[in-house]
Amino acid sequence: MTTTAGDESPTFSHFDAFRLINFTFIKACEALTTPELGPHQRIERLMRYHGDLLAAYGPAVHLPFGEFRRKLRGTVDGLLPGWLDRSAFDTLDFTVVDADGCVTGSAFDLQWETTQLHRILGRLKRNGRSRFTDEQLQDEIDQDQMYELVKGRGDEQYVRDRATLVECPAGDRKTLSTRGLPLNALRYYEPIPYHSTYRTWWFPCTVCQWPMKISKRVSGGDEYYRAACLYSRHADTGASFVFRPTSGSAPELHPDSTFEPMLREAALFLDGSTTVPEARPVEDSLALRRGVWRYTCVPGLHELRLHQVLSKQLGALAERGRARITLWPMQDAYDHRIEVTGAGGGVHVFTVDVKDYTHARVLADSLQRNDGDKGGARWLVVPDHRADQIPLLSLTCSKYGMKAATMTDFAETVCRTAGVAWA
Ligand SMILES: [Zn+2]
Repeated sequence: MTTTAGDESPTFSHFDAFRLINFTFIKACEALTTPELGPHQRIERLMRYHGDLLAAYGPAVHLPFGEFRRKLRGTVDGLLPGWLDRSAFDTLDFTVVDADGCVTGSAFDLQWETTQLHRILGRLKRNGRSRFTDEQLQDEIDQDQMYELVKGRGDEQYVRDRATLVECPAGDRKTLSTRGLPLNALRYYEPIPYHSTYRTWWFPCTVCQWPMKISKRVSGGDEYYRAACLYSRHADTGASFVFRPTSGSAPELHPDSTFEPMLREAALFLDGSTTVPEARPVEDSLALRRGVWRYTCVPGLHELRLHQVLSKQLGALAERGRARITLWPMQDAYDHRIEVTGAGGGVHVFTVDVKDYTHARVLADSLQRNDGDKGGARWLVVPDHRADQIPLLSLTCSKYGMKAATMTDFAETVCRTAGVAWA
């Protein structure tokens, strides 16, 4: 793809093309695997996405329709044209859809995370959105509107509404309607996704409560099913179960993963192994759209836990006016504001943004384009299981006077500054 007039950065053009191509794969893969599409509709959609992809590839790349269909089952890297610069990304060696035809967590996250970066680039360029259709921007718009819907009822209500949303990503229609969410927020709930349905039932994740993905397995000629959260950390830490097929009754789930966190990380650990979920009827149940669940509810659970744990640890100081812990201050300029008075009497303020990205390079690039955190946070905190992202993020953060830390390391630093022991 050539650099457009007025575009001074070749990276933009490559990135822009990447996002367009990546979006097209995901839509094409969905068209390939969505069960409710008839054969005619399926082909029609695939042909449209094939055309979009050829336009993004440019005239020098040859990709017949049959090969395009085959490539959709392969890795993201295999779907990119040779001319595209891959240096801005972590590994692209994963598939867009899994064996069950469900969009993988890595591919889904890559699309959303690059969308965030694209928004920044778009703001910088001012005309950055022009190549994208309404459909391509829909997921991003959903997310923005969600925040808008929760905002506007005052600071305290904002925290309550957002916490409710984090804690209720799915449920039956009646229960959801009694949780006090703004009426408009309810339209972000949809029927239970088909990939999370077994016969007439679904099963909530034991960490986040969103419907777990169901996949059919065969072992030694025996057929069984696995129910596991699409957010792989939840599946690895308890939200993974197996069950035998049933003829009429609801199946009974059996855990198939165990995980012991390190002692110092136990306070902030979200344990999915304490319960076994019961089957819930699909009929009359609703779940938040995948994008809202992934980028509001999943990180939101970490944010809530950090707030609860620090509130407890610093509770005695707070009573004496020597600590103040605020969640989602100023309707989410950043995620946490913690003020503590140190042993020497000095006041220390920590402003924190929690970032739960799968693709650390995309996050680092976003920070760079924003000249640091857009809400002005001085700390970038990642969930403990993303500790391997810290070296790269620290390097970027240091340019903007920010610090990067895992959640436990951050909480320990706060406690040490306040002169109290960590949990
Ligand atoms: Zn989950």
